[in-house]
Amino acid sequence: MVKTKKVRSTGRFGSRYGVGIKKRVLKVEDKQNSLTPCPFCGFDRIKRESAGLYNCTKCNAKFTGGAYVVETLIGKTVKKIIAQKTFVTDTAELIKVTEKENSYSDIENEVSKVLDE
Ligand SMILES: [Zn+2]
Repeated sequence: MVKTKKVRSTGRFGSRYGVGIKKRVLKVEDKQNSLTPCPFCGFDRIKRESAGLYNCTKCNAKFTGGAYVVETLIGKTVKKIIAQKTFVTDTAELIKVTEKENSYSDIENEVSKVLDE
């Protein structure tokens, strides 16, 4: 693999695609190749199988994550929200209420239609 001081791993593209795109690729690849501990066993032995799918070679755990990074910032915040559980229960109640309202109004509409006829 061709590696240089300036363009590093994007040296494999040669003179193609332009500097801007290669810099963006470098940003992603730096994150992709950085070692992150496994959320199950804590060892730095995670391998990316495909986009968003990771496998730990130590404990053989298979889990999802970001397309190029094991854990994205948004994924972290969503995990925290789920761990707090308040958000989930609130939405569950909200869904129940809206479903009830909808079904009730549907029945009312049908009854009024029948009465009109
Ligand atoms: Zn592991």
